[in-house]
Amino acid sequence: MSLAEPLLIGDARIDRLVDLERFDLPLGWLFPDATLAALQDDLSWLEPDFLTGDKAILAIQSTVLRVGGRTILIDTCVGEHKPRPRHPAWNQRTHTGYLDRLRALGIAPEAVDIVFCTHLHADHVGWNTRIDNGRWVPTFPNARYLMGRHELSDWETKLKTAPADMVNHGSYADSILPVIDAGRADLIDHDHQLLDGLVVRRLPGHTPGSIGLSMHRRGGRCLFTGDSIHHPVQLIHPAWSSSLCSDPQMARATRTHYLAEAAENGTWLVPAHFAGHTGVQICRHANAYRPILGNCHAAAGRLP
Ligand SMILES: [Zn+2]
Repeated sequence: MSLAEPLLIGDARIDRLVDLERFDLPLGWLFPDATLAALQDDLSWLEPDFLTGDKAILAIQSTVLRVGGRTILIDTCVGEHKPRPRHPAWNQRTHTGYLDRLRALGIAPEAVDIVFCTHLHADHVGWNTRIDNGRWVPTFPNARYLMGRHELSDWETKLKTAPADMVNHGSYADSILPVIDAGRADLIDHDHQLLDGLVVRRLPGHTPGSIGLSMHRRGGRCLFTGDSIHHPVQLIHPAWSSSLCSDPQMARATRTHYLAEAAENGTWLVPAHFAGHTGVQICRHANAYRPILGNCHAAAGRLP
């Protein structure tokens, strides 16, 4: 599995930008179909980075993509000062160091050109905004914020029938609407092209409007997957969808399709929650997949 930080693919540079380094969830809660017995043969690489006892270990991280002279921030995690009373670890956070870590990559908030939202869950939109004299303002003042048209309308529909603070932890009001009101949001469809070789891809199932980014450079391919895959156990068991997916069956079909493709053509997968890792290449193993490790002989030739 890649520990590469940054990940370099042709002329593109990819860094992970952590908001929460570690976030544990009970495996059986996150993946209702999961059992520890089904992971026995893989504990040697799952532990300790991804699994401890019956807890799945995740991170909450953005991805910074620099390509074609553009700086693109993919997903913006939980953020600071956001009221999330139903989620103590996300509630009213301060001094997280997230923007300092962005600056340490040589990027000021003003230098971000594009914020790309794979979907609009509260752990993907938090740093869209920051508090300024009691008002939510875009954290990245010069960026265009790209949001899926279908994704946004789906949340707006839900907000018509449920109390705002019960929908997605209230994140629409503090992390999405202020961006729209500031005139910084662009609603996009799944065939939208950001740059030559960088195209929006529909990845439905986790949410109805989930999208990712498919990148093709001379040095290789990459898929920014959002939450269509949450955790490496889904390489071993691609059928395991998370309890957080709005349509687990569709999420399974989406994932199964691109995993086959990625194993075939060496695509780097860049998910939002793989702890400690920017991206991973995979190889086929029996009826499923494994990250490329020393024992993955079939794909060893593709190691960079
Ligand atoms: Zn997420």
